[in-house]
Amino acid sequence: MHKHHRALGLASTNSIVAGGAIDIAKTRPVQPVTLIRPHAAARAARFFVEKFPGRSMYAVKANPSPELLAILWDSGVTHFDVASLAEVRLVASTLPDATLCFMHPVKAEEAIAEAYHDHGVRVFSLDAVEELDKIMRATAARDGTEATDLTLCVRLRVSSEHSKLSLAAKFGAAPGEVKELLFRARQAADALGICFHVGSQAMTPQAYADAMERVRAAIVEAAVTVDVVDVGGGFPSTYPGMEPPPLEQYFETIHRAFESLPISYSAELWAEPGRALCAEYSSLIVRVERRRGSELYINDGAYGALFDAAHIGWRFPVALLREPESSVRDHPFSFYGPTCDDLDHMTGPFELPADVQAGDYIEIGMLGAYGSAMRTAFNGFGSDETVIVEDEPMASLYVDTPDEVASNVVTL
Ligand SMILES: *Cc1c(COP(=O)(O)O)cnc(C)c1O
Repeated sequence: MHKHHRALGLASTNSIVAGGAIDIAKTRPVQPVTLIRPHAAARAARFFVEKFPGRSMYAVKANPSPELLAILWDSGVTHFDVASLAEVRLVASTLPDATLCFMHPVKAEEAIAEAYHDHGVRVFSLDAVEELDKIMRATAARDGTEATDLTLCVRLRVSSEHSKLSLAAKFGAAPGEVKELLFRARQAADALGICFHVGSQAMTPQAYADAMERVRAAIVEAAVTVDVVDVGGGFPSTYPGMEPPPLEQYFETIHRAFESLPISYSAELWAEPGRALCAEYSSLIVRVERRRGSELYINDGAYGALFDAAHIGWRFPVALLREPESSVRDHPFSFYGPTCDDLDHMTGPFELPADVQAGDYIEIGMLGAYGSAMRTAFNGFGSDETVIVEDEPMASLYVDTPDEVASNVVTL
């Protein structure tokens, strides 16, 4: 990882769209401040819309901010993967013309009913016959007539071996169950889909190639006509020590595998990216409240936007915001969050100039996915202060020509 410093008044040297200039040196914010980068989310959305060889729908759980939903919509994302009734209501009220797909394989029957009857949701996923029965009951008319306009996506269990975060144990029909489920879903559905999730932050396109082989085996075994193949989420972003190959390689691998499946010419290819669309959308400015050797006590942590840093040892890019810039060599630090709890600890290591001290401000990058979405107010900490900025995120998968790379973007 390159050394990465930013000028203290980083945002004030850029033009601020809203929220006022954030001149850290002057304002010295006591609470953490979230920096929002609409242009980065819009760029990621346009990339998927233009280059993914099928339909990209946004997995809302990665970051349900209404402002972000509107940015994605304005950038061409029209379909949204929702997993709860609250997400259904949120997207339906924020983007009335969006198409919602209820892709959680285990839903409350009441949630299915409201989604179908009140919000026009027609796409549902399932991984068991019980869920199919539930969907058919919840979507039936008052007189018991079954719905004839459903798209039912059978979720296959696939390996998460190439991913940093497994989604392999909880959901997905096992090989022995797939044939009957596909057969039953085919009879009930207007359109039949097959979906899977290779796990989050898939580090190689091979993850999708392997999963598509499972799709092929399932189609051959059940001998059903399949209308939709949904490759789910898992598309990576870039973090220290987790730099994936270009997304185009994922798209090529998926396209090739899709083209060779025994499905009709009119079958559709879908994806449900979450992380890849919003990781670059936000970062966080925190203050160091104390230093103890190589441990920095900062004002956000495991119960704030740093859940993944604490609980699964995720490393995020960091930069010291100090003027003049520190010329001291980098040193590996770990972080303690603000709550009164040993669990509120981020191992890192986070490379920062060795002279970091209490009162310094640090920017922690790439927190747009599963960062802001997971914040709590535990122990009275956390803050909703946000500032919109136009500078580049600390790393990007979507900046490809050197000219486009702003001076403060580094290759991690
Ligand atoms: C979480 C989730 C996604 C998004 O996953 P990412 O790894 O963030 O791309 C997509 N689909 C389903 C069903 C999910 O549960």
